[in-house]
Amino acid sequence: MFPVLTNFYARWRVECGVVALLHEDRDSPPEHLLQSIWQHQRLLRDRLKTLDGLPVRVFHPGFQSLEGGPDFRGAIVQIGNRPPCTGDVEVDLRPGGWHAHGHDRNPAFANVILHVIWEGDHTANGAPPTLPLQQTLDAPLGELSFWLGGEAAQVFPEQTRGKCCVPLRGMELERLVVLLHEAAQVRLQSKAAQFQARARQAGWEQSLWEGLFRALGYKHNAWPMQRLAELRPFWSVRRDGKLALQARFFGLCGLLPVELTRSQSATDAYLKQVWDHWWRERDEFSDYVLPRALWHLHGLRPANHPQRRVALASLWALGGNIAGKLERWCGLDLPQATLESSLLETLQVEPDDFWSWHCTFRSARLKKLQPLLGPARATDLAVNVVLPWLWSRAAEGRNDTVRRSLERRYFSWSAAEDNAVLRLARQRLLGGAPRRVLTSAAAQQGLIQIVRDFCDRSNALCENCNLPALAGTWCSVGKPKT
Ligand code: SF4
Repeated sequence: MFPVLTNFYARWRVECGVVALLHEDRDSPPEHLLQSIWQHQRLLRDRLKTLDGLPVRVFHPGFQSLEGGPDFRGAIVQIGNRPPCTGDVEVDLRPGGWHAHGHDRNPAFANVILHVIWEGDHTANGAPPTLPLQQTLDAPLGELSFWLGGEAAQVFPEQTRGKCCVPLRGMELERLVVLLHEAAQVRLQSKAAQFQARARQAGWEQSLWEGLFRALGYKHNAWPMQRLAELRPFWSVRRDGKLALQARFFGLCGLLPVELTRSQSATDAYLKQVWDHWWRERDEFSDYVLPRALWHLHGLRPANHPQRRVALASLWALGGNIAGKLERWCGLDLPQATLESSLLETLQVEPDDFWSWHCTFRSARLKKLQPLLGPARATDLAVNVVLPWLWSRAAEGRNDTVRRSLERRYFSWSAAEDNAVLRLARQRLLGGAPRRVLTSAAAQQGLIQIVRDFCDRSNALCENCNLPALAGTWCSVGKPKT
């Protein structure tokens, strides 16, 4: 039933813009409403046709992505007589959005299989098959707009939950945590094995530097950061240590801007100093400079920009002997909370005149000094690099006491920041479990491991995934004997 403006609260919602009052004949929906309509498939699903007249069958609308790039990932659709295919879906109001928003030039959109629009009469040049929704809504636009403002649209559609959701949601919390910790143990050992393999080739210290740098690259810039770590033989500088090393790092990374801001004198002064070092040696290192195109620079939080991360990496390199510092930290006998803060202190660097106050070469000066490493990043470094690396060394040295002590730290470490993988997994696998269910970093790591092991090997329909059966059996008979 179409809700009407029967009381003052209903009118508030409209007046405050919580919901838009839309008219069928003259309004386009806002893009986020169109996304919700697609996500919840509020459509006459048997009447969907591309602008070229081909029927479209939607087996799965995909999972909404809030990280930039296409709006939905992993959709499964069939267009005309072609076999069903898996890919991304982009939602725009009109076909022209494909070029106007730069999707045609953005490699992140290369896997878009369907361009969903509100209205239009021809597919944009070079765009994927285009599906207009205007004539196929399952309710009047005004009603859908009211619905979008309600809770129904905020929740993850029940029909897109994973098949494992029922057994996992039915587990007692304690058992769920045991399962997540078992998966986390696998993740710890697998990361440790990677360090060990790399150490066999390049030595333990080099494997640590590479792990730390990769982690600073987050998921999009891990490879250029890995390469920077591999260029470690070039890290030593003869004079003017800090600035020269920063110049070398930025120069090797290909991240030095070639133009001054001309509006921020302090930034320009710093940039000139850096160039003053780099221009003298850039010919010598020209064969090693990373192409700028290797870097993913869009859609990042300013504090996570690679330029700031490279600055931190250069300061770590300047301090040197990070392996020795971490080994000393490993030997500390402190309560867990103090251990966590002491790791942050161990990896923290001295304030930098420029980078403690700026996120990029071009950003305005921050109002407050911002440390180059925060607690959230230190937690990521702990569970992904520091603990697996130390654990691997302890395992190779057959030092069971140290290994067990590191495992205790790993399983007690406070939860890391939420991220897109965890948000989706909580909805899809755990039926919308609140964030507090994942009380430790290890529980989060375990959930990510399950996503990698099972979801990444299946599809949006959970085809051929064994986890529901395994979890169901484990629920009913208890933990399987190993
Ligand atoms: S693919 Fe498997 S693990 Fe992932 S949501 Fe589906 S059933 Fe669960």
